[in-house]
Amino acid sequence: MKNIIFIAPPSAGKGTVSDYLVKKYGYVHLSTGDMLRNEVARGSELGKEIDTLISAGKFVSDELIIRLVREALLKEDIHKPFILDGFPRTLVQAHQLDQMLFLLKIIDYVVIYLDINLDTAIKRALGRVVCPKCKRSYNIYCDELKPKLDNLCDECNVLLEKRNDDTEETFRERYQTYLVNTNPIIKYYQDRGLLVTVDATEEINMVYQNIDAIINNRSLKRENEE
Ligand code: AMP
Repeated sequence: MKNIIFIAPPSAGKGTVSDYLVKKYGYVHLSTGDMLRNEVARGSELGKEIDTLISAGKFVSDELIIRLVREALLKEDIHKPFILDGFPRTLVQAHQLDQMLFLLKIIDYVVIYLDINLDTAIKRALGRVVCPKCKRSYNIYCDELKPKLDNLCDECNVLLEKRNDDTEETFRERYQTYLVNTNPIIKYYQDRGLLVTVDATEEINMVYQNIDAIINNRSLKRENEE
């Protein structure tokens, strides 16, 4: 199974697709957003600084995030396929990741760009609720992604929460930060023939099928195609 690096605007569905891949194929899920939110939850000084940045829709420093990802990659059993969800988000991070993968002798990976327009992404952000325990994402505006019982995690049975960066104002800032910093790395991977684009505005089961096709080397499906 190929390792996966997701590149996407905020709320394109990286977390939801990652949950699916973890369940179906046993991927190790490395989410930089979750790593940062864990630090915030610990209430450390660093956590407070991170919280201020995330709540304002800004990125944390390249230095910090690179350190966290390096530690996570070294700690995980890298013989298991992994998903990088939320990293790299800048060109500096992409260059550092190349070095890490080279040193770890990881060559089998694909970069999947989840393409979504601003309006759809805002709607998804405003409907998102997350389990504070297992981190699974749900969406109250999407039948396939609603919790079975109102506002309760299907698996942990605890109350779902809204992320505090999922307000419309912060979302617009996050999207702007994405356009300036992350957009350039799409071309970086495209030029090296590593990028595959998936239309993330499609219905979620179609997105899953297309991701399945990529990691199993089949061709992608379009909407209304049998
Ligand atoms: P996510 O859960 O992936 O949407 O990430 C939530 C927030 O964490 C982002 O809006 C950023 O503020 C921060 N963050 C996550 N990954 C990175 C990264 N690779 N570089 C900088 N900031 C990040």
